This record gives sequence, C-alpha cells and structure tokens, in this order.
Amino acid sequence: NKQVIFKQFVEGFPKESDMAVKTSSISLKVEEGSNAVVVKNLYLSCDPRMRFRMKHSKDPGFVSFQPSSPLEGFGVAKVVDSGHPEFKKGDLVWGTVGWEEYSVIKNPESIFKIHHTDVPLSYYTGILGMPGLTAWAGFYEVCAPKKGEYVYISAASGAVGQLVGQFAKLMGCYVVGSAGSKEKVEILKNKLGFDDAFNYKEEHDLDAALKRCFPEGIDIYFDNVGGRMLDAVLLNMRVQGRIAVCGMISQYNLGQPEGVCNLMNIVYKRIHMIGFIVFDYFPQYSKFLEVVLPLIREEKIVYLEDIAEGLENAPAALVGLFTGRNIGKQVVVVARE
Ligand code: NDP
Repeated sequence: NKQVIFKQFVEGFPKESDMAVKTSSISLKVEEGSNAVVVKNLYLSCDPRMRFRMKHSKDPGFVSFQPSSPLEGFGVAKVVDSGHPEFKKGDLVWGTVGWEEYSVIKNPESIFKIHHTDVPLSYYTGILGMPGLTAWAGFYEVCAPKKGEYVYISAASGAVGQLVGQFAKLMGCYVVGSAGSKEKVEILKNKLGFDDAFNYKEEHDLDAALKRCFPEGIDIYFDNVGGRMLDAVLLNMRVQGRIAVCGMISQYNLGQPEGVCNLMNIVYKRIHMIGFIVFDYFPQYSKFLEVVLPLIREEKIVYLEDIAEGLENAPAALVGLFTGRNIGKQVVVVARE
C-alpha cells in the first residue's frame, strides 16, 4: 500500500521534504464484527486547511497529523470490503481518507455515498464536495447577495473562488476577482466570466487597484486570503457591506500574523463581517446538490481542475497551494477506477 507519510511538524512554509512516499502492507478484508469500510482511493483533494493539521497542537479538539502516519484529507474512493450496513463492495464514496492507495475507514460517518456518476468523479473533491459547499453556503447564506451588487473575490481562480464568482454572475452581480498570475487573470476574465480581474502580485498599491475596479465601492467581499488584502478592502467597502471571512491563506505560514489596520471601517460602514465553517452546512448537502448538479449538466458553470498524476506527485501538489502553483482545484489522481 503506497502512502504519503507525514514526517514532522511544520513551521513556516510546508516543503515536499516534510512528506515521504513509502510502501507498507494492508489487509483488504474487514475484520469479522467490525463496521469499518476498506476503500481503494481514486482522487485526493489538496486543501489549504491541511496546513493546520501539519502543526503541533495541544488543543484536544484539534487533531494534528501524526508523524510517521499518512496524511489525511478529502478524497473519492471505491469500496473494496465493508462491515457497515450502509456500504457495499463497489460503492463510490467521498469523504475523509488517507493519502494512500487503500484506506481502512474505521469511522464511516466521515464518508458519503456518491449517487450521481454522470459528472466527473473528481468533482466530488471540488465543485460537488467540500469546496463547492463552501462556495455555495458562503455566498448564498453568509453574503446574502442581491442582484446588481458589487462583488470582490480573492484567490478567485481556486477551488472555492472560481465558484463564488460564477454564482455571483448567475445572480446578476458585478464581479471582480484577484489572483497571483497573468494566466489566472486571463482565465477569470475569459473562461469563468468575471467582469474584471487583476494580478495582486503586480499591484504595489492594493487600495488603488480596488478603487480602479470598484469606483463605487464593494458590497460583498468573499475573503480567501486575509492580511494586507483584507485591510485594503475595508477602505473600499460600501456602507452595510458584507464580508464573508472564508479563509486567510496569506497568513497560514507566517509566525506572526500581519496586522489589519483598517478594522474600524467595520464600525463606520456598519459592515457585516462573518466567519463561517463549511462543516456547519453539511446537513444541507442534498439541497446544495439540487442547485449545483443542474448547473453542471446544463453547462451553466465550468469547473477548473489542476490534476497531479500519482501519489509520488502529491507532496508537491499540496505544497504548491501556498505558492499559487495550482490553477483551479488541485486534485491528485491515485487510480482512475
Ligand atoms: P485554492 O484552490 O484557491 O488554492 C490556494 C490559492 O491561494 C493558491 O492557488 C494561491 O492563488 C492563493 N494563495 C496562496 N498563498 C497566498 C498568499 N500569500 N496571498 C494570497 N493568495 C495566496 O484553495 P481553496 O479554494 O481550497 O481555499 C481558498 C480559501 O478558502 C483558503 O483560505 C481556505 O483555507 C478557505 N476555506 C475555508 C473553508 C471554510 O469552511 N471556511 C472551507 C474551504 C476552504 P494565487 O495565485 O491567486 O495567489
């Protein structure tokens, strides 16, 4: 069983050498009387939140990766053997698996059966999985959008951002995204239908860039990056704007977070700045599917994936999230069937 092993707790930016690919043995049969499920992993999801589990935590509510054990994350898999009444051999599932060819899922509550297979299976790591639910709940529930509003999204070409932008366009909003390369900016404008986009790495003055894109100010900011960008956005929010605080990837690898200086604008402008966690919305997954599956089937939404082939390339794919190497949702293919 080929596995991606977590070697040591990480400080600063994660490196490929914090992980190693090794082979061990595994039984593909469930023990008599156990309700575990054995799966063959097909697709693995690279998610920024995996960075949190790479640090040592004494908080009992927080589970760090264990040195010398495989990493864990969201993935798509096929059931090989099952002691659980809800799963049988051959079922396709998505949920939490190990970064390895085969996993024994001791707690099958963390996996969900896949019922719709007329769409690419890898989508269950992205648009039809955790990032899709994040974009859907974050935009429709947390941002409370209205037609015609001015919407700004950072890390806009990524797994979550590309969907928030398209949901906002479908709602009739004016949508601008930022990303970290010329190529990504072109994709936002030409493939994903954003009204405008800019490369934040080429802007010395983020405040000026936002004023250029939003001369009348921003109603909704979907924040994926935090830090300096959030600070500049606060200056450009309109009265009673909403900020959905989804993530702050610019801060994840810093020892000391960067200061936000413009926070008093929340008061002056009566801005609703609301943090949210996708796991609170998992009970609404079937409602989410009813909305998003037709959008995929009718080609009203596109979904960009960045595919790495094989477990050997998984560490580089994960580390690449923090340098912006990925264009779209970063997936690792372990096997195609
Ligand atoms: P992405 O697919 O967007 O990949 C990460 C991207 O972040 C990179 O491609 C890069 O794009 C950008 N990035 C990396 N470092 C920086 C930096 N220092 N400053 C600015 N941008 C940076 O990831 P996801 O879509 O999966 O996640 C996006 C955000 O959503 C993250 O903050 C994540 O933690 C959060 N999240 C929150 C959830 C919740 O429940 N609240 C659930 C899921 C995700 P670029 O080239 O544009 O720099």
